[in-house]
Amino acid sequence: GARPLLPVVGGGVPVPVVTGGTVPYANLDYAASAPSLESVAARLTTALPLYSSVHRGAGYASQVMTSLFESAREEISAFVGARGDDEVIFTRCTTDALNLAARAVPAGGEVVFLDIEHHANLLPWRARAHRCVTAAATVGETLAVLAADLDARPAALVAVTGASNVSGEVTPLADIVALAHARGARVLVDAAQLAPHRPIDMAATDVDYVAFAGHKLYAPYGAGALVGRRDWLDRAEPFLYGGGAVHDVSLGEISWTTGPQRHEAGSPNVLGAVAMAAAATALRGLPAGAMEAQELALRTRLTDGLSALGARIVRIWEDAPDVIGLATFTFDGHDPARVAAYLSAEHGVGVRTGRFCAHPLFARLGFGREGAIRASFGVGSHAGDIDRLVAALDAYLTEGPRWQYAATAQGWLP
Ligand code: PMP
Repeated sequence: GARPLLPVVGGGVPVPVVTGGTVPYANLDYAASAPSLESVAARLTTALPLYSSVHRGAGYASQVMTSLFESAREEISAFVGARGDDEVIFTRCTTDALNLAARAVPAGGEVVFLDIEHHANLLPWRARAHRCVTAAATVGETLAVLAADLDARPAALVAVTGASNVSGEVTPLADIVALAHARGARVLVDAAQLAPHRPIDMAATDVDYVAFAGHKLYAPYGAGALVGRRDWLDRAEPFLYGGGAVHDVSLGEISWTTGPQRHEAGSPNVLGAVAMAAAATALRGLPAGAMEAQELALRTRLTDGLSALGARIVRIWEDAPDVIGLATFTFDGHDPARVAAYLSAEHGVGVRTGRFCAHPLFARLGFGREGAIRASFGVGSHAGDIDRLVAALDAYLTEGPRWQYAATAQGWLP
């Protein structure tokens, strides 16, 4: 963990601190949006000179762009180990991909989801009155509760996160697929957090759908994907109405196309897709186990440091098999937002606070509206980032802030 696994753009960029001058930025907010890989920037620089319209453009640049866009689709397919007949639909973000999936569930089919989910994998199902199951304190009990629920009433789909954006805990997907498929339900994985941290192999694990986004996968904002079984997607109501999604339109009738284009009306975010694909390919090129080993080393360093300072670390399950590069924590008697403001203003350490769009989980775990502090990292991180966070928290708890911090509409500011 002494060095980053892959170089990122802006790693350690100088940022101002209130105590004077600048310090290298310690970005510990990868789980919200990760910095871009240098290889992503390089791919975009190569693509930009031929930036042009995609699909149906007759010019040379249009043909190149179309081919880059369609190869991005293939790279994304390979990244998640999709089956030959799975569809890869480009979206704007994970939230769009999950909303699209919600629309594709056949009429009358119910969806089961856990209460630990990010709102993006909770509200689209709630809006359609699907069923929420409360997760238990262990993985084993949670699986039992899920199985009992499916036994009591069949479902078309189980929608579950691949890794929690609150605790970093990885969901036992193989177990969930086995129990869901045995009961006739498909499985959709919200892989927003899993995809940047662990390999996904849809063909090997038999996961039916995955949703994720480029901005957490070391590419810029604006591109996401839904990958999975063609039948539901080809029959679903188009996600957007507009150009590109149709075979033929007359004033009386619309004949919608099938395939990804059915759901991709409008001019697509070509560079977003290309950037996301470049990042996916770079991650796929890492030696097997390298990311796991680096994250384990950094996370152990982080949780050891936090525990020594008396932090309470948020866990969902006592026996989670694996945890990605992320820890959410609080210190009794200290407002998380105020601590985070201090970390940024006096130390150039960037974290995030709140309830991380998982309000039901935070309520069940007994947190107030102020939530907790989350530190998250990835392939561009190194032990120095973790050490600076822990040292800064230590200074906060022992010496207190050097500046006064006041609550404002934006949060806490010096
Ligand atoms: N699911 C999870 C688990 C997430 O962490 C996030 C982002 N915080 C989302 C969904 C939503 O992702 P996006 O911003 O790409 O829509």
